[in-house]
Amino acid sequence: MPAANQLTFDLDELVREDLRANAGAWQGAPLHFTTDYYPPGELVTAFQQWQLLYGNYGSIPRSHMWHPDYLSRNGQLSFDGHGHMKFRADLSPEREHEGPGELLYMAVCEPCEWHDVSDSENDVVEAWHDHAIPGWRELPVIPAQIRVSNESGRLTPLAQKWVTAHYPAEMQVPGVPIITERQRYATRHVEGRSPWGGYDLSSTALTRAEPPHQEDTPRPAPATLQTAAPDRAPTVSTPHALSR
Ligand SMILES: [Zn+2]
Repeated sequence: MPAANQLTFDLDELVREDLRANAGAWQGAPLHFTTDYYPPGELVTAFQQWQLLYGNYGSIPRSHMWHPDYLSRNGQLSFDGHGHMKFRADLSPEREHEGPGELLYMAVCEPCEWHDVSDSENDVVEAWHDHAIPGWRELPVIPAQIRVSNESGRLTPLAQKWVTAHYPAEMQVPGVPIITERQRYATRHVEGRSPWGGYDLSSTALTRAEPPHQEDTPRPAPATLQTAAPDRAPTVSTPHALSR
């Protein structure tokens, strides 16, 4: 390592030691996995703080913390005052330990302080639509015979024409999804693919029952949630913290 880089590295390490010594002074969101609600900005800042303290390398599996889903267009989707952010957390145990790995997903609506956690990305996306866009389940399904996207991911003219003719006028507004007929192995909901910046939802979402709300029936946590929880996170919440 060149001397200048070594100096920077040593300085970084000094800053980290100082931060670690004062870790108790941290006032933000927890520096470990949590299923409690926190505003997206606080979750992002907490993850950055963890990286500052313990380094960027492997910070996602090592911290088990929520981090923004950079594959999606976070923060650009909104509807009727509702916001949309998606996060992921990696609860896989440390490499040298035995045990099941698990990726968790969370959708957040900041204006409502609403969130939903699941081990299924599609589940949290559907829950967000149930929360923010009531009536989306009644939207027409674009038949499989109509090619929806071209190579660059844009809506084809034929699909645009079909949507304009079949979707209710009041639902042809920013944030609203389209629903497309899918085959068995291509059922992921894709963000930003509707003509109005909403999701392209797989029609398989409609063949599943609408999930119960928290007030009715608390949903059991995934079986591995607690066993896979990191040692440094004694406050991992149990099922009631899941928001539905
Ligand atoms: Zn909302």
